[in-house]
Formats: sequence, structure tokens, C-alpha cells
Amino acid sequence: MQAIPSEELAIDRKARMKIPMVKPKARPPEERVCDFGPTYLPLTPEEAKLAAERCIHCPDPAPCVKACPTSNDIPSAMWLIEQGDFLAAARLYRQSSSLPEICGRVCPHDALCQGSCVRNKRGEPVITGALEAFVADYEREHGGVELPVGEPTGKRVAIVGAGPSGLSCAEQLVQRGHSVTVFDAHPAPGGLLVYGIPNFKLEKTVVNARIDDLRRAGVQFITNTRIGKDKTIDDLFAEGFEALYVAVGTGVDATMDVPGVDLPGVYKATEFLIRANVDPELLPPGMQGRPEIGKRVAVIGGGDTASDCLRSALRLGAEEVTCLYRRTEAEMPGNPHDRELAREEGARYRFLTQPIRFIDGPDGRVSAVECLQCELGEPDESGRRRPIPIEGSNFTVPADTVILALGYWPDETIGKTTPGLETRKWGLIVSDPDTGATTREGVFAGGDAVTGPDLVVTAMVAGRKAAAAIDQYLAKKK
Ligand SMILES: Cc1cc2nc3c(=O)[nH]c(=O)nc-3n(C[C@H](O)[C@H](O)[C@H](O)COP(=O)(O)OP(=O)(O)OC[C@H]3O[C@@H](n4cnc5c(N)ncnc54)[C@H](O)[C@@H]3O)c2cc1C
Repeated sequence: MQAIPSEELAIDRKARMKIPMVKPKARPPEERVCDFGPTYLPLTPEEAKLAAERCIHCPDPAPCVKACPTSNDIPSAMWLIEQGDFLAAARLYRQSSSLPEICGRVCPHDALCQGSCVRNKRGEPVITGALEAFVADYEREHGGVELPVGEPTGKRVAIVGAGPSGLSCAEQLVQRGHSVTVFDAHPAPGGLLVYGIPNFKLEKTVVNARIDDLRRAGVQFITNTRIGKDKTIDDLFAEGFEALYVAVGTGVDATMDVPGVDLPGVYKATEFLIRANVDPELLPPGMQGRPEIGKRVAVIGGGDTASDCLRSALRLGAEEVTCLYRRTEAEMPGNPHDRELAREEGARYRFLTQPIRFIDGPDGRVSAVECLQCELGEPDESGRRRPIPIEGSNFTVPADTVILALGYWPDETIGKTTPGLETRKWGLIVSDPDTGATTREGVFAGGDAVTGPDLVVTAMVAGRKAAAAIDQYLAKKK
């Protein structure tokens, strides 16, 4: 690693503070809403260097490193980028992150590294997220990405679930010389990176390129295979796998117990996003064809998934797209930046609105949502003020398509078919936060399947920690 000359930095900190913020350029809303292409234009090398030069190299430990769940050495990366050594910066990121090209695009940077940047006090942080994506892409375009494969150990590990957690675990294990096979229920690997997060936030080509790195390193992918149904965890041990990492996410959409929820035109978020975004040949059985969308779309929910559904509906040609949320914007869990982009593209928000019934039209499809006005009460167990529906305040919102973006539950299949595997809260797997070890010997677990719905970066960190623990477990077994 290239040492940062501290005297030089001490001299020029003031000068660095004067460099104006370099912002990633978004495509104009009226242009980007016509396709599913990326929202942001790539940085140029000159923009990247200037953006990195704005880093004032805070004393160690820098707040951006502390805020990064995978502890990327951001200040050193900024220094290398400033010098124009983009390849060295990319390699530095790859030491602590298995998915820098992906985290650089989808991490909620405003809440993590960029949010903690001291320059954010004036609302002008160093754009660490875009710079991470820039160098990772640069490396792929100039010289390529190779995974160093470890000396073969002869040990076989099975990973169940090819989302960011499973992929990261595979990336770490193959570098330690283990033979890795990843099973996934979907037709293609990627988890929510492919079957969830829309292309305008994360292009599938970026995910597929990373998966191809793993394939070239020897990781085997077996898709269209649901563990717990097509074969069990015990079957995998019987086939000779010596350790397993379970990273099956939380793939069950929460729903609403209200009349009309099964009407044609009412979609669950996952099905809607998959059918809107995934290549037709990779769509799972039962989810074929693009979703039929009307002119007026209502999206129910307040998280990131709701923003993704609003923006996807606009891209599919809906004229009026409205988010219905039962609290106020202050309580919304989703990333505010995504809401800003959704608003720019034409989405509207209706707060303090609790849907209570979906009403059908003459054609039998949904035509309106009956709602109650809410007011806020005392905070509930989540710490957010509770929405209280006001009796008699009924009103209707016209909608010929409704998308339920209400959160996710774990799938209980693995828990129910694996003796000795402890679960909690309707199927979340109990595991050690430092190692991923579960109550069943040889079975490790992590990502959303353990924590509940969270982030790509936290799922990745869990996969990396589990890989280190599995490596130790296998070494002891020998
Ligand atoms: C619409 C949406 C948008 C999001 N946007 C962002 C974002 O912008 N930034 C961010 O950081 N996070 C975002 N998230 C959250 C993030 O995607 C997840 O936290 C992350 O993908 C979890 O990773 P994972 O590997 O634990 O699980 P997943 O990505 O869910 O992958 C689990 C995999 O396991 C497979 N599987 C399930 N059961 C079985 C089984 N029994 N046998 C075999 N395979 C099985 C599934 O097919 C899937 O491929 C978003 C989530 C959603 C739903």
C-alpha cells in the first residue's frame, strides 16, 4: 500500500476544503423514466480524481471507515484515486469487500460512509460510494478481475442461496482452496441483486460479471433447486459436503388481511419487480411476462421496495403513480435519496393513509383503494409513532394497479426440514453473529435469513465472516 505523506496532507487540508463538491450526474428524469437503464452516468477519470482530492484524510479511525459495515479503507482508496492509481484503489477495496462494484451502487451511502464524512456537515460529502463503483468498473475494463484461488484442500462446502451473502461466502472460501457449490431456487444466481433490485439502481450486467468471476475461479452454481424441497440439508451432508452456509434471505412477501387483496391487478412487490426487471428467459415459473399495468398505480408501503416499485411503474408507462403510507415521511424507513429520485420522476406521496379495502370495477379488476385517514399516536416497539386510523374518515383513491410493498418474512422450509436447526420469529435462523455457526453442527447461516430484511453490505459481511469460521471448522475437522 502506498503510504500517504502526512506532512503534505497537513499542509493542504485547507486547500482541499475549497474544492467544490463533485456530484455524480443523474440522467434527466424525463429521459431515464423511459427505460430501465442506470440512473447515474459514470464518473470520468478527471471527475474521480477531483472528487477523491476533496478527502481531508481525517485522523485514524476515520468516521467513514467506522461507518462502513465492511471497514473499507476509504481514505487510502481516496489517496490512490487522487493519484490516478485506479487499479490499486480497486484492489484495496477488494481486500475488505467481496462486491465493491455492487456496494458502490446500492449501499445507502448517505446513511453510512458519506453520511459520516466530516464534509457532510455542510451537506457536501466526498462521494465515496460512486468512487468505489468507479474504480471497480475501471478495473474490470482495464485488465480485468481475477480471484486468486487457494491451494485445493479437498474439502467441499455447499452454499444454499446465491444472494450477496452466499456469493461473498463463496468468494472467500474459494480463495482458501475449498471446493464450493452454490444451490439456488431461482433460475439464475444473484438473489435480490437480480430478482429484486431494479436495473436502474443496479444493472444485471454488473452482477453477472461478478458471478462470472466466481465461476472462473471454480465455484459451481446449481440453480432451480430448492433446498428443503428438492433435497434437504441432510441430503447435502450425505452427498459429501462437509460444511454448509445457509443464506436464503427472507423471500416471502408480507400481505394485507383486507377484502379484495386477491383481485386481479393487485400485485405483491416481489412478483411485480421480478416481472418488470428480469430478462424473460430468467423469469421463474409462474411469473412469466411483463406485469400488466394500468394508468393509475398505487404502491402501499414506505421502504426501499416501495420506491423501487414506484419507479418501475413509471417506467412501465403508468401515468399517475402514488405511494400510500400510513405514517408521515419522517417515519418512512426507506432511503430518502431514493424518494427524491422517485419524486423527480413523477411519483406522488399520500401520507397518514391506511388502505382498508380494494374495490373491484366492472371488469372484475381492482379499480380503487378504500382508505382511512390516520393520525400519529405514541411510539410503538419500533420507536416510530404509531398510526391511528380516524373512524369515519373513509375516502377512496382510484387505482387500476396496486402493488403491496409491505416487507418480507422468512421462508420456513429449511428450518422445518433440518433437524437440530433452531429458528426464531417465524423462521429466522439462530446463528452466532461473529461466526454464523448455528445450533446444527457444520451448518452456518447469515444474511437476511438471520437478521431479517437488511442490506446488501451487511449480508456480504455475514458471508465473509462465516467463510472464515467455516475455514477454521474444516481445519479443525482434519
Ligand atoms: C426490492 C428491494 C430493493 C432493495 N434495495 C436495496 C438497496 O438498494 N441497497 C441495499 O443495500 N439493500 C437493498 N435491498 C436489501 C438487500 O437486497 C438484501 O438485504 C440482500 O439481498 C440480502 O442478501 P441475502 O444474500 O441474505 O439474501 P437474498 O438476496 O434474498 O438471496 C437469497 C437467495 O436464496 C435463494 N433461496 C431461498 N430459499 C432457498 C432454498 N430453500 N433453497 C435454495 N435457494 C433458496 C433465493 O432464491 C435467493 O436467490 C433491497 C431489497 C429489496 C427486496
